[in-house]
Amino acid sequence: MGQKKIKKPKKRLKRKRNKMGKKVCKKCRIFVKGDNCPVCKGNQFSTNWQGRVNILDADKSMIAEKLGIKVKGEYSIKVR
Ligand SMILES: [Zn+2]
Repeated sequence: MGQKKIKKPKKRLKRKRNKMGKKVCKKCRIFVKGDNCPVCKGNQFSTNWQGRVNILDADKSMIAEKLGIKVKGEYSIKVR
C-alpha cells in the first residue's frame, strides 16, 4: 500500500482589513481625520467599523435619512 498524500488546495482568502488610522466617530459614524469629530466635536472614535457610504447631499439622500445623517461626508454603515 502506497502512502497517499492528499494535497489540500491552498486557500487564498484575503480578508480586507480596515486601513489603519481610519477611525470613525462612534456617535455620528463619520470618518474623522483629526482629533475631534467635525460633526459633534466629540472624541469617541472607533476603528472597528464596516461598510462605507459617501453622503453627498444629506438632505436628499435616502441613505442619509435612514442612517440619521444630517451632514454630508463619508460615513461607515456599522460601528462597534
Ligand atoms: Zn461625531
